Amino acid sequence: MKIMKFGGTSVGKPERMHQVAALVTAEKESKIVVLSALSGTTNALIEISHQLSIGYKVVAKQKIDELEKYYKQFVATLVTTENAVSKAQQVIAEHFEFLNVILKISYSDALNKDILAQGELLSTKLFCVYLKEKGIPHTFLSALDFMCIDENEEPKLERINRRLSSALKNYPAETLFVTQGYICRNARDEVDNLKRGGSDYTASLLASVLNASVCEIWTDIDGMHNNDPRVVDKTKPIEILSFEEAAELAYFGAKILHPTCIWPAQQNNVPVKLLNTMQPQAAGTVIQKEAGSVGVKAIAAKDGIIAIKIKSSRMLLAYGFLRKTFEVFEKYRTSIDMVTTSEVAVAVTVDNDAHIKEISEELEQFGSIEIEREQTIISIVGNEISKTPDVLQTLFNSIQSIPVTMVNYGGSPHNISLLIPSAYKKETLQLLNKGLFKL
Ligand code: ASP
Ligand code: MG
Repeated sequence: MKIMKFGGTSVGKPERMHQVAALVTAEKESKIVVLSALSGTTNALIEISHQLSIGYKVVAKQKIDELEKYYKQFVATLVTTENAVSKAQQVIAEHFEFLNVILKISYSDALNKDILAQGELLSTKLFCVYLKEKGIPHTFLSALDFMCIDENEEPKLERINRRLSSALKNYPAETLFVTQGYICRNARDEVDNLKRGGSDYTASLLASVLNASVCEIWTDIDGMHNNDPRVVDKTKPIEILSFEEAAELAYFGAKILHPTCIWPAQQNNVPVKLLNTMQPQAAGTVIQKEAGSVGVKAIAAKDGIIAIKIKSSRMLLAYGFLRKTFEVFEKYRTSIDMVTTSEVAVAVTVDNDAHIKEISEELEQFGSIEIEREQTIISIVGNEISKTPDVLQTLFNSIQSIPVTMVNYGGSPHNISLLIPSAYKKETLQLLNKGLFKL
């Protein structure tokens, strides 16, 4: 059994959906196909929900109608036979009727989640209508019957496994299942989701509980690149990454893969492949247990970072200072990315500014506080980086013009992180591309 997940752009046009159908039927191995919503749909649903939450029903209605029109045009090209057209229209009618009904009921968080779930329900149902039109045997599975999270929003792996396995047992001869990414049920059994970009997470969770042969993540780029292709011209796909390297890259800014998507597959040692729907023959990137080679493999950048510096003369020879500092962050559920210390100061970075005011007020009891916003973490990722000859020398030689404000090295054998003002991001990524990859 394998998992094939297709993102929003891979199903975002009728002809792309046709291509997805060709890809999932290309070979015999049984598979679960996990689909995202068509690109743009989740954003549109969020906007509809937002308008409702502030009481702007007329605007919400207008947005619902626009989206419905878009779907009607979509199916007009997706399917051609009379039967399939009428089935696809039925699917659209059902889900847009729901969206129109919610205009009349009072807004709540649970309702918001119901609204957001419509995208994946629509994409999977429409895909199945197309498969049926083409005479391709398949079974539709509702993720709401097996994907579930607990009160801490963590997936309940055992329950997912039990429910999914029993669902699959009902179709012993079936080789093609279709289900939704992103959506699930929460501890109150309400419809919920795995957060933005969560379809990758669904795929990895399914791959893990079923001990799949592979978890394929199909997108519109040919794998994870060694640098940000939106910022740097000459980048190339990385052939092999270890789970650890991929997790660092996904967390530190490589947009292609959701950071939570690594651990489930890693737990059961299921390789994750990043593949390109538009270029199915390209090798893409394999994420697996072994790193394949030693040295620097990729650079990623994460924006929106805030640096906080705490300076205390009392820290000299003191113990417990770091614990007290970190406890303040813990109290406000704000996770720390980078840390550096000197004898009298500690500097940390966070990516969440929700509680910066409270945090800095509490930290003031330990010393003077400095806060710098609009910072970017540049993360250099690879396997056993420290064993790469001259890696630090090459690295710093290539970015002499950049005002680096923090450096993390040694915490992980897979990562060197630099903090820079965001205004220097583009220049830094380009210089590192030349310096480290000679590209
Ligand atoms: N449709 C959801 C989103 O746009 C989930 C996903 O695509 O992974 O965030
Ligand atoms: Mg995605």
